[in-house]
Amino acid sequence: SKKAVIIGSGIAGISASIRLAVKGYEVEVFEANPFPGGKLSEIEIKGYRFDAGPSLFTLPEQVEELFLLAGKNPKEFFEYIKLPVACNYFWEDGTRINAFAEVDKFADEVERKLGEPGSHISESLRQSAFIYEHLAPLFMHRSLHQIQTWTNPDALKSYLKMGKLGIFSTMNEANEKLFDNPKLVQLFNRYATYNGSNPYETPATLNIIPHLEFNIGAYFPKKGMHAITQSLFQLSKDLGVTYHFDQKVEEVLVENKKAIGIKVRNEHIHADLVINNMDMVNAYKSILRKQKQPKLLLNQPKSSSALIFYWGIKRKFPELDLHNIFFSDNYLEEFDHIFKKGSIYHDPTVYINITSVYKPDDAPADCMNWFTMINVPNNQGQDWDKLIAEAKKNIIHKLNRILKTDVEPLIEVEEILDPRKIEIKTSSAQGALYGNSSNNKFAAFLRHANYSSSIKNLYFCGGSVHPGGGIPLCLLSAKIMSKMIEE
Ligand code: FAD
Repeated sequence: SKKAVIIGSGIAGISASIRLAVKGYEVEVFEANPFPGGKLSEIEIKGYRFDAGPSLFTLPEQVEELFLLAGKNPKEFFEYIKLPVACNYFWEDGTRINAFAEVDKFADEVERKLGEPGSHISESLRQSAFIYEHLAPLFMHRSLHQIQTWTNPDALKSYLKMGKLGIFSTMNEANEKLFDNPKLVQLFNRYATYNGSNPYETPATLNIIPHLEFNIGAYFPKKGMHAITQSLFQLSKDLGVTYHFDQKVEEVLVENKKAIGIKVRNEHIHADLVINNMDMVNAYKSILRKQKQPKLLLNQPKSSSALIFYWGIKRKFPELDLHNIFFSDNYLEEFDHIFKKGSIYHDPTVYINITSVYKPDDAPADCMNWFTMINVPNNQGQDWDKLIAEAKKNIIHKLNRILKTDVEPLIEVEEILDPRKIEIKTSSAQGALYGNSSNNKFAAFLRHANYSSSIKNLYFCGGSVHPGGGIPLCLLSAKIMSKMIEE
């Protein structure tokens, strides 16, 4: 049988291994870390378990599809629930909004608490669904780099609707048109952060995201986000895929413009296909350094990064849910700091993810595991130690004001993740969470294709290449890529 080697066991690498194993390839995965999953991993500290990176889960059928491909019943291996409330939102003035999954209930809540006509919610989600219907087939399920994509009937239908797809205005402009209350504009602007972009710059096309959360649904894997990695890793091994951990690939071997294998620990490993799941920018700097560099793609601005405090909190807060947002009083200033000043605003929007709400064994009795995160600029060599110390103080003061408590004495354990560590741990350029940012109209076209145009048998998957970052898109990148290999 033909042999494929995969560089990196991020969620896209694991998913690619499953797809190729099902097609009959002999697959070997080489991973620099001692564990699989890359950004989608977990940490444990003194009785507290935390999902290390991603916490929002949409499009679970992308995971289930992999079990079905292997002829297994996904329900037996990967269980998840639909969330009744997508997120709890808090503002400094005491306003609290529950974003109920049921659209009518959410519209009611917004009308009661913000005086915003509920019809504005349904109109906004209708527009969001419209964008999804027209763009998903084109941008999420196909390669943008093959001519067939642009000449198929879906594409033609979409050209005719360019105006309505939000290409010509920013997300913030579109939301200001839709909503009267600035709090609702802020709530819907936050969706830009789902792929590390700036709502004041990114095209309104990104209003596709609320459709995923409301119309399709927000979910939680019963065993935590890490179960996505664990269950797919197990499936991949059951299909005969071999994993090599602590093995950092040094080079992709190329002969006569054809990838013929990899070099790892000074050994040459030959293969018919080489699949790169490592961040594209750092891949061209290291394992592909001798190859032609796609400069335009490499130089695109990166998405934002994150500063996370994993806190074990020795008290329960009944007002907190799985996803909680404490909004900044000045969102524009906050994003100017992240994307223009390369710094952290003194009043950042704080996100707290608490898996122990749904999975009580993630924290000791009467305690909670707070994954406390703010969006921060990607790493440009800032004085992070100073920024982190200031941010920690500001976050605690903000939470104290809104929750009317004193958080500091409740913190029993602490671990910190910052842009520098994200880069070291997963080799992501500048510690960006989602590869390139989507802060301009052309971003979708300036991501690396799922194949190399100059080297045969070399393919790409993962959050830094087409169609983009985030778990669902990473899984789709592996799908698009394996379809190409088949063809
Ligand atoms: P990565 O996870 O980037 O993994 C790449 C792997 O390649 C790593 O394991 C690395 O060690 C390995 N590697 C690199 N170089 C080499 C080499 N030379 N040899 C061998 N192995 C190598 N997404 C969501 O959908 N929802 C969220 O809520 C969300 N929140 C996030 C929060 C944080 C803090 C972070 C960091 C990310 C978040 N994301 C979220 C994004 C999501 O985690 C990523 O898009 C996705 O996990 C990336 O997967 P990937 O397949 O590209 O590989």
